[in-house]
Amino acid sequence: MKSFKDVFEGYQWDEIKNKLEKVSQADVRCSLQKRNKTPHDFLNFLSPAASHELELMAKMTQALTQKRFGKTIQLYAPLYLSNECQNICTYCGFSLDNPLKRKTLSDTELMVEASVLKSMEVNHVLLVSGEANKIVGVPYFQNAVRLLKPHFSNISIEVQPLMEEEYSLLHEEGVHSVLVYQETYHEDVYKEYHPKGKKSNFHFRLDTPDRIGRAGIHKIGLGVLLGLEDWRVDSFFNALHIDYLQKQYWKSKFSVSFPRLRPAEGIIEPNFVMEDKDLLQLICAYRIWNEDLEISISTRENETFRNNIVSLGATAMSAGSKTNPGGYSVDKESLEQFETSDERSMEEIRRMIRKAGYDPVMKDWDSVYSGF
Ligand code: SF4
Repeated sequence: MKSFKDVFEGYQWDEIKNKLEKVSQADVRCSLQKRNKTPHDFLNFLSPAASHELELMAKMTQALTQKRFGKTIQLYAPLYLSNECQNICTYCGFSLDNPLKRKTLSDTELMVEASVLKSMEVNHVLLVSGEANKIVGVPYFQNAVRLLKPHFSNISIEVQPLMEEEYSLLHEEGVHSVLVYQETYHEDVYKEYHPKGKKSNFHFRLDTPDRIGRAGIHKIGLGVLLGLEDWRVDSFFNALHIDYLQKQYWKSKFSVSFPRLRPAEGIIEPNFVMEDKDLLQLICAYRIWNEDLEISISTRENETFRNNIVSLGATAMSAGSKTNPGGYSVDKESLEQFETSDERSMEEIRRMIRKAGYDPVMKDWDSVYSGF
């Protein structure tokens, strides 16, 4: 069965790193003018040389995003189901070796949390959990989706990698999108960040978006954890992955997120610091390379960055987020996955978006565009 592994094995980490160093500003300008852009143009946009073209790239990003998505930002909120996890990930507060109280929402607690989100006028909810198959496995997710479906127009999940049949079951229940991040495409160091548990299997995770695509899930979200390894090289592989998936599962839509490593109890410091201007360059690179890609910005980013990015490529934002199960109401003190940076409420974010001349949209793009 064809999978991204076949493409991935044709590239070497160090070879991409060297290529990035050798890109000239003339190469960047040449790629910017091309009509049909490839992942190799994306590589040019990511390069250190492209940082000198950032003003032009930002203007192009703004124009391309407005042309494809209008002046709108889709809003969503995460709903953490459980912080149980059987994996050790050195960068995550939910890691198995973090000796803190664990919590999984009961049906009643789930509905209490959901009612708080509804009071914030949230219609698009992202269900998140750690990886603990016996406690929060597919039956738990099926039940949660059944309970929430009548109350939200769009349900996405960000949970452990599942099998194709399991994604199909969740698709039938009404799951619209699945997010899965490779964290890093550096195969050699992947094991150091993931020393124990199912997540330590690099290739099982790498094949996950293929399983999601085969199951017919409507939208697939990818990303890397920025701060682990060289963001430029990791992002090139992430774009290569999206490029392959778009050709293979052409009926699905794709989104990309940019989680930058944030503080959490008991976790490592970033290995590579990514400045705000680097993140802006990365967002511009994705937009100029791929006009259809949805670009999501979470509350990991600070207020100033989020205010500015509304008109510079973002298509979706989370707001008012709590990253602990029960965080909205049921158990506000439970262990959180990471500290958010932008702590403004959903209403404050809506106001900020309107002030920037954009419309905050509480539904998914499909609902927005279905009337066109
Ligand atoms: S990143 Fe995911 S799998 Fe790893 S410890 Fe955190 S919740 Fe568990």
